[in-house]
Amino acid sequence: MAVYVLGHKSPDTDSVTAAIAFAELQKMLGVDAVPCRQGDLNPETEVVLKKFGFDAPELRTDVTNEQYMLVDHSDIKQAPDNWDKGELLAVVDHHKIGDITTPNPIFFCAMPVGCTGTILYKLYVDLYKKEIPANVAGLMMSAILSDTVLFKSATCTPEDKEAAEALAKIAGIDNMMDWGMEMAKAKSAVEGVSPRDLIFRDYKDFDMSGKAIGIGQLELVSLDLVDKIRDDLYEELKKVKEEGNRHSVFLMLTDIMKEGTDLMAVTDDPSIIEKAFGKTLEGKTVWLPGVMSRKKQMVPNLEKACAA
Ligand code: MG
Ligand code: MG
Ligand code: MG
Repeated sequence: MAVYVLGHKSPDTDSVTAAIAFAELQKMLGVDAVPCRQGDLNPETEVVLKKFGFDAPELRTDVTNEQYMLVDHSDIKQAPDNWDKGELLAVVDHHKIGDITTPNPIFFCAMPVGCTGTILYKLYVDLYKKEIPANVAGLMMSAILSDTVLFKSATCTPEDKEAAEALAKIAGIDNMMDWGMEMAKAKSAVEGVSPRDLIFRDYKDFDMSGKAIGIGQLELVSLDLVDKIRDDLYEELKKVKEEGNRHSVFLMLTDIMKEGTDLMAVTDDPSIIEKAFGKTLEGKTVWLPGVMSRKKQMVPNLEKACAA
């Protein structure tokens, strides 16, 4: 019976490549694992798959009556539909523990590192003592560069750097940072993309003390890229808030060179921004220097603010 391996909804590079890399490892262990994606590939993931010779994994958003494994998340809101009508066999993740539960014991591996790719590297090398195929190593290395924003994010640990360097050797990449910059440029592509698709390109919904909070993120090599579409993004953000009955919707416009985020916000209660970040909205946005990580710098602060 096929076992589906899935990353989160609005898939990023780590979610797609971790599904492929963990499925490869599972195949080496005798499992008929099939990597999947829960949505369209972002432009960065497209160039990564192309560079290392992979096709897009199959699209699957429902696991009714299926056996499955999750990578890069354990939150119900990001999981496949009918997650409770299938059988979850394993989770490999680097986020806070989510709300998925199982009736049976499962393989559950979470580590506070910058990328699922880093954990998978340890599983291949340390736990299962398996050789990582060169093209799979290339995917995992790319995911680490992406998730840690070229090692600049607050989520980045020494283990991420070590894993990426080791993976680059296996993949035969000797200019890892040049490749990372190419990826960042691909990730920054906004031209010709609708505001809606930009908001949902890298988007997550959260339940914070009963408040529905949505947070999207655009990682950009320069904020100039969105100068002309700020108003359009804001109007679309309002729609996203209304149609989901959300308390707040945020769009992180992250400048990966200046290392900070211009946070666009539509909220029922602007005081949560003050409580979370000690700064007030100036019009539609507020500049948060040093903030690059949704997981480590946005979510915990907003959760505290929402609970207060
Ligand atoms: Mg992810
Ligand atoms: Mg990740
Ligand atoms: Mg990310």
